[in-house]
Amino acid sequence: MTPFDKNSLDALHTLLNRTRRCVITCHISPDGDAIGSSLALCRVLRNAGKEVKVITPDTPPKSLSFLPGADDIVVFSRFEAFAKKIITDTELIFCLDYNDPKRVDLVAPALLASKAKKVMIDHHLYPDSFPDITLSHPEVSSTSALIYLVLTSISMGRFIDREAAECIYTGMMTDTGNFSYSSNDPELYRIVARLLEKGIDKDAIYKKVYFNNSINRLRLNGFALAERLADYPEHRASIITLTRDELNSYHYQKGDTEDLVNRPLTCPDIVYSLFLREEADYIKISARSKGDFPVNKLCTDLFNGGGHLNAAGGEFHGTLTEAVARVEEAMPLYDRYLPQQPN
Ligand code: 5GP
Ligand code: MN
Repeated sequence: MTPFDKNSLDALHTLLNRTRRCVITCHISPDGDAIGSSLALCRVLRNAGKEVKVITPDTPPKSLSFLPGADDIVVFSRFEAFAKKIITDTELIFCLDYNDPKRVDLVAPALLASKAKKVMIDHHLYPDSFPDITLSHPEVSSTSALIYLVLTSISMGRFIDREAAECIYTGMMTDTGNFSYSSNDPELYRIVARLLEKGIDKDAIYKKVYFNNSINRLRLNGFALAERLADYPEHRASIITLTRDELNSYHYQKGDTEDLVNRPLTCPDIVYSLFLREEADYIKISARSKGDFPVNKLCTDLFNGGGHLNAAGGEFHGTLTEAVARVEEAMPLYDRYLPQQPN
């Protein structure tokens, strides 16, 4: 990774030394990295004697509820007044795993209005300028790995206990697809070695996060792949769609379609995959790709979204059919990003 900016690290160190109350925030629909990095930092700061609260915009997935400290998360959408008060009263707000206030949704007005100092630690491109201190490292595969590196760089590594290590490992594992992409940096494995030395059971963490299927979920994913996957061989793309009614018929729970968008990429010929899910009043788009194909550009261009080169998303206000038509129409424009050689 590129070295940390020394001024920013020093400023963070100084700020932490004179701060007692902190709030940690992460993005809406928090994933393993958002929750992992937030709970790890929370644990470490508490171990260092600080008063810390983690606030998420909405409810974290059940598959992460095993993480130490998950029970104590304040969900903004459920306890709005309480969460707002904490954000207003705190001295320091960490913004983890997001680059833009839009990504915290309903939390954004309170966050921006708070007089607290703001520190962004993140790995998404193009960080917004609202924080007082920004540690933005898109070359690092997870915010959780970044948290480890930041803490050890400001002499706080000694506060990383087994519980914090579990949280860090979970974020590193989930944001790299269990070390299957963005995961060639040897430094990642040096971090993993340190986390194992803190006593984590990485095999158990894998099972807790990934072996949590329900029969409905299995069937919904089977249905989506069998009946609702359109492939576009000339553009090396696929689109999966699910309507509200289809989701309801399989008793859809949040998170049930989390991995679906990745599945078409297991076909060597498919370079990018989109999944369009009908929500109550909009269409949620998830996109994944291989190699240099920029799904973040596609999501920005077509769906007012963004994200990483190989994992991005957006929203569409209209019908599912219109959203699909928008992608189909644009596909020829993105052919130039396809690899020249077949896989
Ligand atoms: P997912 O498909 O898992 O919901 O999102 C994958 C990644 O795409 C996220 O980590 C985030 O970086 C980005 N992303 C997802 N949805 C949106 C969105 O609506 N707007 C923006 N800017 N980024 C998104
Ligand atoms: Mn992340």
